[in-house]
Amino acid sequence: MNFETVIKKMEYLKFQHTPTILQELTDTAIKEEQNPLQFFDKLLGLEIDFREERRIATSMKISGLPKGMYLDTFDYMFQPAVEKNKIDYLSSCDFIRQKENILFFGPPGVGKTHLAAGLGVKAVEQGFSVIYYTVEELLSHLKKRSDVPVSKQRRQSYVKNALVVLDELGYQVMDRTETHLFFQFVNARYTKGSVIITSNRSVKDWVGIFANDQMATTAILDRLFHRSHIFNIDGNSYRLKDFQLMQNGGAQKE
Ligand code: ADP
Ligand code: MG
Repeated sequence: MNFETVIKKMEYLKFQHTPTILQELTDTAIKEEQNPLQFFDKLLGLEIDFREERRIATSMKISGLPKGMYLDTFDYMFQPAVEKNKIDYLSSCDFIRQKENILFFGPPGVGKTHLAAGLGVKAVEQGFSVIYYTVEELLSHLKKRSDVPVSKQRRQSYVKNALVVLDELGYQVMDRTETHLFFQFVNARYTKGSVIITSNRSVKDWVGIFANDQMATTAILDRLFHRSHIFNIDGNSYRLKDFQLMQNGGAQKE
């Protein structure tokens, strides 16, 4: 028996990574005097790790989540309004299993997108399907198919994914048609799948986003807030962090 024979069998079984390092693995096994079970366990472990990494990389690409925003790079000391234990709890993704929503409120730069995207990454890692949109992107998707009710658009990513991360609600004021499409979206996801929303406008100003339509705003709020986790982040902008430090430094010198 030679390596070629074994590698062929591994490839037949769709092993992707370990066939390329089989020689190395067996050399190490001999050197370390691994027993057959240890060797087999090591080999399967490496194969699984490789596939997991691939799966996550592919799902991350498909999700459209912004790059480089991970929960473990979030500085909680800088933003004390965000309770770390709450985020840690949510990162278990039970909220997705329970079809609950998360809402992040706060002015620009306080880390809303970072936290929303970081939780999105956790969901991808745990095997949930995730899609990220800005509200502007979502509306343009919804408008393209506005002749079909959203609830009937079963194959669309904004309906079928386990988690939709919807960023930047409030930057764009919607007209009546857009408000209606947005309501349809919220309604289609209601109790069927989770949404994470970030908004720079507090709830009392939401009616201004939704064409000043009080009824539609209430209907949207009702559905989003039912079974939801809310974060009001009222701290300083992280983008302006160094600028603020400079200003404080300047003030001290005077
Ligand atoms: P928002 O969406 O609230 O406007 P972002 O999440 O886009 O703010 O944050 C602005 C930038 O600052 C991003 O690059 C983000 O990664 C970074 N950032 C914000 N808050 C923190 C924080 N507490 N720790 C680390 N990076 C942060
Ligand atoms: Mg943002």
